[in-house]
Amino acid sequence: MTYPLRIPLEYEISDLATAKSTKPAYTRSRVSGDPENELAAVLSSAGELLRWEKTLGGTGFPAPEGAPAMVGAGSGSIADGADPDTRARLQVLADQAAECSRCELHRGRTKSVFGRGTPDTDLVFVGEGPGYHEDQEGLPFVGRAGQLLDRMIAAMGYDRDGVYICNVVKCRPPENRTPLPTEAAACSRFLIPQLELVQPKAIVALGRCAAENLSCVPPAGKWRGIWGQWRGIPVMPTYHPAFLLRSPEFKKPVWEDLQQVLKLLNRQAPRRAR
Ligand code: URA
Repeated sequence: MTYPLRIPLEYEISDLATAKSTKPAYTRSRVSGDPENELAAVLSSAGELLRWEKTLGGTGFPAPEGAPAMVGAGSGSIADGADPDTRARLQVLADQAAECSRCELHRGRTKSVFGRGTPDTDLVFVGEGPGYHEDQEGLPFVGRAGQLLDRMIAAMGYDRDGVYICNVVKCRPPENRTPLPTEAAACSRFLIPQLELVQPKAIVALGRCAAENLSCVPPAGKWRGIWGQWRGIPVMPTYHPAFLLRSPEFKKPVWEDLQQVLKLLNRQAPRRAR
């Protein structure tokens, strides 16, 4: 189901409101009525959660050990191994984004931030817009939120560069504010062809802004954890990693959402994350 574009609401408040109504993540489908089975299910759920927490570095979110150095600059880096034609077309778009002045965001730009990872993938993550570090390096999700995203990706069983990551807007909004609808609309000239070129089997929308700009937020009520569609591609809207850094207790529903994505893709999280 798709929904019309809406003006982004302040997503932290609504995230919290929605999250509070979320049922406990790991017991939902396993309650049987038999106390012994239920106890076993709860223990197994607790184990799953602990392993997921451990994969994400616990609640303190230390930097991932041995994380690869961030490479590339300017308009984003595309890992080797993808179809040369797709890579070339993405590079053309990235070069255009680097020169773009269609909205006011270009005025504060150090580097445009187009995308990273491989277009030869079944999974794309879409965030909101570059922050300070991204603007400096020209790559999406390289700050603290990016380190958490990398751990989430690893927990799903993907290489850090085995997915494709981009944002709704390619230039940093001032003070890291949510992009205005006009800015998002101006940048859709990049986001739309970018996603169409990569053609993933699933998209994870990170935060309400991304979900809204992929037309996957219902006019009212819950938005996280509910499958939407963008031009025929399934979209899973979930909380933004920056929100999780401030509110780690919401990692549970996010892991549930990512597990839904893995199920759709016929993949399983590696043992250590389950
Ligand atoms: N937040 C985003 O939404 N995107 C980034 O690239 C970094 C932080």
